[in-house]
Amino acid sequence: MKIFHDVHTHNIFSNCCTDKGASTVAFLNKEAELGMRTFGLSNHIWDERVKGASYWYRTQTIAKAEEAKNAFSQADPSLKTLFGAETEYYACKDLLGMSEEGASHFDYLLIPHSHLHMRNEVMRDFPEILEARAVIRARLAEQFPYLSESQVNAMAAILKEADILKIFPELEINYKHYINKAMVDGFLSLLENTDFLKVIKNLPVSIAHSFSPCGVPHVQKNAYLELISDSTFENCYRKAAGLGVAIEINVGAVREVNTDLDQNQLIRAYRIAKDVGCSFTFGTDSHSVKGLELIQYGGEIADKLGLVKSDIAEFLQDAVEE
Ligand SMILES: [Zn+2]
Ligand SMILES: [Zn+2]
Repeated sequence: MKIFHDVHTHNIFSNCCTDKGASTVAFLNKEAELGMRTFGLSNHIWDERVKGASYWYRTQTIAKAEEAKNAFSQADPSLKTLFGAETEYYACKDLLGMSEEGASHFDYLLIPHSHLHMRNEVMRDFPEILEARAVIRARLAEQFPYLSESQVNAMAAILKEADILKIFPELEINYKHYINKAMVDGFLSLLENTDFLKVIKNLPVSIAHSFSPCGVPHVQKNAYLELISDSTFENCYRKAAGLGVAIEINVGAVREVNTDLDQNQLIRAYRIAKDVGCSFTFGTDSHSVKGLELIQYGGEIADKLGLVKSDIAEFLQDAVEE
């Protein structure tokens, strides 16, 4: 299969993009050069109507993202343009960063459940870190008796995991267990979130980079995923299929896990998703103009999974070739 779409892309309107040349026009030109039929821009967006955005998200609003769309008129006529968003789901608060009204601004949405590096938003502190933080809080209270309880709490809370591990280098954390549990629990709770269930009725939604744990070193991801059973993947993906929610094949994430697709645990996951009837979208998750070239590996992944046109989300079926 040949993939002629990329609907997971970030340009300079995303705070994590470091390619200064990544304007919308540069993306459109590159996509035309690559022979793409459909291009979807999906910057990180937290709907300004929804309270609770982190500091990182508070400037990445729909109003700002819409500026990027103005350049769509300059696209080559052969290239279809879609205005999308990669929004957010804070599993710790069961909070979707997109309202039903906000979603109406877009052609489609990508919703992740695995931005695990967003601690205490997407994933809670590891239990051992929580305990260590409590010890630090007690020490601070003892050392600085003139500080209020809320000041002490704020000081203890501001320490990052890495800071705590410097104070308690002997801490042993069962990373694999907690990371996998957070991904599975987050996936399932997203599918039950009230706002999510409203949004999916109105526009195509794809779960972004499912089971690709952000914040885990690339070389360890495969080993972590080996511990998630087929039946767990099946339970998650069957529910997504039942809701008509697509699963993203994130080319960038697949290649981070393992370039040998026979050994790649994400391929095992996506294969199970296919078997239970999920549909798929393809995206590079590129944050640069050059990164858009990664889509060339999409066809190899589709073939490894044995995908046919009907396995692709309906809105993108004209942007693949068997
Ligand atoms: Zn993401
Ligand atoms: Zn992304």
